[in-house]
Formats: sequence, C-alpha cells, structure tokens
Amino acid sequence: MKSQFSVYNSLTKKKEVFKPLIADRVGMYVCGPTVYSNAHLGNCRTFTSFDLIYRYLTHLNYKVRYVRNITDVGHLENEEDMTGEDKIAKKARLEQIEPMEIVQRYTLDFKNVMSMLNNHPPSIEPTATGHIIEQIEMVQKILDNGYAYERNGSVYFKTVQFAEKHDEYGQLSGKKIEDLRQETRDLKAQSEKDHPADFAIWMKAHENHIMRWDSPWSVGFPGWHLECSAMSTKYLGERFDIHGGGMDLQFPHHENEIAQNVSCCETSPASYWMHTNMLTFEGVKMSKSLNNSILPEELFTGNNHLLSQAYSPMTLRFFFLRSHYRSICDFSDKGLQDAEKNYKNMMSALKAVQELEYIGKEKVNDEDKVINDLLDQCFIHLDDDLNTPRVLATLFELVAKINAFKNKQLKINHISKATLERMQTTFKIVLQDILGLLPEEENSDAVLDNVLQVLIEMRKTARANKDWAASDLIRDQLLAAGIQLKDGADGTSWSKL
Ligand code: AMP
Ligand code: ZN
Repeated sequence: MKSQFSVYNSLTKKKEVFKPLIADRVGMYVCGPTVYSNAHLGNCRTFTSFDLIYRYLTHLNYKVRYVRNITDVGHLENEEDMTGEDKIAKKARLEQIEPMEIVQRYTLDFKNVMSMLNNHPPSIEPTATGHIIEQIEMVQKILDNGYAYERNGSVYFKTVQFAEKHDEYGQLSGKKIEDLRQETRDLKAQSEKDHPADFAIWMKAHENHIMRWDSPWSVGFPGWHLECSAMSTKYLGERFDIHGGGMDLQFPHHENEIAQNVSCCETSPASYWMHTNMLTFEGVKMSKSLNNSILPEELFTGNNHLLSQAYSPMTLRFFFLRSHYRSICDFSDKGLQDAEKNYKNMMSALKAVQELEYIGKEKVNDEDKVINDLLDQCFIHLDDDLNTPRVLATLFELVAKINAFKNKQLKINHISKATLERMQTTFKIVLQDILGLLPEEENSDAVLDNVLQVLIEMRKTARANKDWAASDLIRDQLLAAGIQLKDGADGTSWSKL
C-alpha cells in the first residue's frame, strides 16, 4: 500500500494528501541562494529542510526532478520594491573584481557547505545568467498578453490589472487588491512606473552597470522574480508539483512568480507551495542585513564569541531536525550542546543495533509489537508533513530498546528474528537515508594521536635499547611530516608545526 504522505500547502493553507501530476514522478522547484556572500546558518536551515523533503519523496519511490537555482543576477539591494544596486554587482564593485568571480567564490562555498551538511545536490542547478534568452522570451509573452508595459527601456508588470482579473493574486500572501490600490498615494513623482505595486521584469541598465544583456527593449538585465518563473517552466513545465522556499519569499517573490506564470502560460505553476520557517537568534530572524548571522565555518571551528565550542555539521543537521520545518528554530549554544549529545547517542545506537545478533532459541516475542509499532510510527510522523521532532522522539524510544538489548536487560529472543532484521534496516534507513544523519569520522586528531602514541612507544623502546639511530629516525621523519615531539618530565608529547 502506498503511503499517505501529506504536506501543508501554503496556497490552500491546509494539510493535503500529496498527489503528483504524473504518477510516480515529482517535479520540485526551490528558490536557491543569491551568491553574493557566504551562506549563513539560516540559509542552511531552509535548504536542509528541502533536502529532507527530497529524500523522503525519493524514499517513497518517486522519481524526483529537483531544481534549485543559483541567483547570479537581478537580485537588487531593496528586495521589496526592486530598487538599488544589484547585490552581486555591488560586491564586485567594492572588491574591484569581476561579478563572475563573486559568483564563483560564493557558489563554491555554498556547494561545499551543502555537501558538509550531507544535503544531496539537486538534479538541476540552473543559473539566472545562463537563462537570459528564456527570460527575454517570457517578458515578450507577458507583454503580448497585455500584462506588462515598456517605459524608457524597462518593462514593468501590471500588478493591479492582473489582480483585478485573476483570483490567483493574493492567494499565497493574503495581499488584497484594495491594499494595492491604496498604495497609489505613495507613488513617488520620479518613478516611471504607473503604479507602486508594479514590478520590473526587465530593467534598463545604467551606464555603469556591468551585468547587462541586449534585449528588444534595452541593454539591461532581468528582474529577480522572473528567473524562477522562466527556469521552473523550462525544466519542470508550465505545471509541476512542488514549489518551495523560505517563508520570507512568499511575498513579493512567490506572489509575483505566480502572477508572471499565469499571465505568460495561463496557469499557476505549482500544485503545492511549501515554505520553511526561519532560523532566529534571540527571537530575531537570522539575516545578513541585520548583522546577526552566523556562518557555518564559524560553527564548525567554534570561532565565534556566541559559541562555547565547535560543532560538527551533523550536530547542526540534528539541531535543525529537532524543530518542525514550519516552526521557528531558535539558534542557541545550549540547543547545539543538547543536539550534539543526542546525535552521539543516536549514532552509538545505530552501531549497537547493527551488532545485535540473533541467538535466542526459545522464542518469547513479547516485544515484537512494541518494536514494530515504533518503526511504523516513524513513517506515520514522516507522512504527517515531515514531523521530524516526533520522528526523533520515536527513534529515541527505539534507542532505549536497542540499549536494553545491548546491555542484556532485554533478551534478544523477546523479539523475532524478522523483527530484529526490520529494526536493523529501518533504523538505518530513517536515520541515514531519510534524515540524512551520517556517523561522523572519528576526530582526525584523535586518530592521529593513536598512531603517534604507537610511534612514541617505539621510540621509547629504541632509546631503552640505546638504538639512537632508530630513535632519531622516528623523531626526524615525524618532524619532516610536520609533527614535533617534545620530551618532558611526564613523557613525550607531540604538536603540529
Ligand atoms: P537568499 O540567498 O537571501 O536569496 O536566501 C536563500 C534562502 O534562504 C531563501 O529561501 C530564504 O528564504 C532563506 N533564508 C534566509 N534567511 C533565513 C533564515 N534566517 N532562516 C531560514 N531560512 C532563511
Ligand atoms: Zn525564486
């Protein structure tokens, strides 16, 4: 029986049973990063939440095409009314390097962090600059359909006229036409737009604007909202299953995307809109502009005054999963400490469960139902709009059982061999394949220390035997490898050069 996977749809504001447009296939588009600075922990939370969704859909045997774009042009400083300088062009100007160098640097950083967090790469990762032609074509169609106008080389979307004709407008964000109409008062005299709610889908570039392309209207660049409409349509079709992003993108970005798609293709693009909630710090959204963002690198090295220690990528992933993706997750050192402890317990149980052997002769099997129910519960909670806090709580009940088997408080013959095998495979599938929590390598310094203790012991023996050549060889070769030995009253210690 196929699982009844339900997701909360931001468009209908209801939890709905998930039904793809084409049986067994899912098209999912997620708004990706703007690569003008390092991704912070808030960005990481959103993309880790969508990785979980991707993993679960894959587990349910759907063939998923997951498209997540890279915004490398068109995202202006003032997101609300699309004014100001392009974020990437500004950074390039300040650093006096090419915009594409900025893009390359932060795209690499982003992909590196994603892989450290064990987030699968998407199936397609298109860039906005690689799809200028598609965006120009879309602008043309919107113009042809009467939902945009050209003004001095820029093209603007007619938001109010669109909202008057289409129920789709405001469905996602709750924005009302009356609100739009009232905004007329705020229209600045110098603005070339007919209405403040209109937004640019193509912008004429100023003389000193470096990122520019030719178009029928001017040498310019596409508006930020347009790239997602153009690239989702190109790779997933005019209609697809899931569109996602952080909650802060609902308005104006996603509302405008829907408006563009409807006016270009006569259909709203996605069946399900999924939005992830924010990572906050002391109750305030973590964001670069508010200066309260923490970088993954700071977390992994412990190099931030807010942290009492370094935390590993898997601890961070575990920390995210403790909150439901639609709930706020507040960043704290204490929360990370708890997450680290719990993650380690979970990984010890994963090892322990694989080591359990079935040796019972006399079958009691009175724990069969309890274990199987707990395993079923994991999937029931995942099916319920990916309720990860509940999944983790259920896994901890299983951890208690696994530890009881390991410590022989419970005999293995209290479950059947089939139940043991199911527990071994399912525990691993939920933890590793679906939640994406992998065992971490032993701290490499700890491994190095073990190896060096062997060499220190060999050198001690050589010295005791007055074999100075062997003892010097060990010391000198280690020095050449970047390790210095120091002989002291308490024995020999080592340090990296
Ligand atoms: P940006 O690079 O600013 O376009 O953001 C990339 C993604 O990160 C978007 O989906 C945002 O909604 C998301 N995001 C930004 N700040 C946070 C935060 N504090 N918590 C969770 N997601 C965030
Ligand atoms: Zn987008």
